[in-house]
Amino acid sequence: MGSKSKKKKINKKSTALKIFFIGLFFVLFILPVLIAPTAEKHMLKSSADFVEFINVGQGDCTLIKSGNEAAIIDFGVEGSGKRIYKRLLEYGIESIDTAIITHHHSDHMGGFLKLAKKIEIKHLIIGNTTAEDGERDIYNSIISLARSMNIKIILPQIGNIFKIGNASIEILAYDSAAPEENNRSVIFKLCILNNSLLFTGDAENIVELNLAKSEAIKCDILKLGHHGSDTSSCTEFLKAASPKIAIASCGYDNSYNHPAADVVQRLKEYNIKYLRTDLNRSIRLTFNNKNTYTITTERGF
Ligand SMILES: [Zn+2]
Repeated sequence: MGSKSKKKKINKKSTALKIFFIGLFFVLFILPVLIAPTAEKHMLKSSADFVEFINVGQGDCTLIKSGNEAAIIDFGVEGSGKRIYKRLLEYGIESIDTAIITHHHSDHMGGFLKLAKKIEIKHLIIGNTTAEDGERDIYNSIISLARSMNIKIILPQIGNIFKIGNASIEILAYDSAAPEENNRSVIFKLCILNNSLLFTGDAENIVELNLAKSEAIKCDILKLGHHGSDTSSCTEFLKAASPKIAIASCGYDNSYNHPAADVVQRLKEYNIKYLRTDLNRSIRLTFNNKNTYTITTERGF
């Protein structure tokens, strides 16, 4: 009798331990998955065509995925290569068909060198002139790396069209002789499943005023020029482009105060909804065949 009740006690003890460890396992491993932000889980699952404005802090980086092809517009700052690579892995993207570097500033091309060593890049569209305020050293390193890795270098030319899966990119403007680097930005329109997105790099008002004369800049979505600085997004340009939504790519608490209060005010005036990577983090637009898209962000909006 004595040994039986001892056994029972031991059994009870081991059952309690089992329950404790199962509970611990649940709290440590299962619960975090269940309560993880649904937006982020949703973000990485879709196989549809999408454009993602990757949060690279105070810089620019946009990923385009259409069909089986992918493109990247700008590569953030020097430390962004690792971050971009991680994002590509999360999406299962193993090569980049087209890379565009809009202009020769480190917040647009800084992450290229690290990324190009980790993943295959097939074509690189990049201008070959640098203004005095541009960063020629980084440009030179990129060109020598691209040559050594057999990445095809393409000079931007107005009217050039590049296919990315079902999407296309058309270069609308590019002035290789502009006196300031920002205004040498390659300006182009991306058409993806009946939606259009306009990219202007860091081009400033002087360039925008010229662009505003053309119907070609009409778009559904505008990536705000120069991270939302008030050197860009002038009234005439916003009116001519008439986007429904605008995206500012800028760093949290950045010292430039991007996006500028004036720009935000103008967007509100023209009823243009806007999102910003400093607050929303990475922002993804997923497109379908019916002229519509859904917006997913790492952080709510
Ligand atoms: Zn910039």
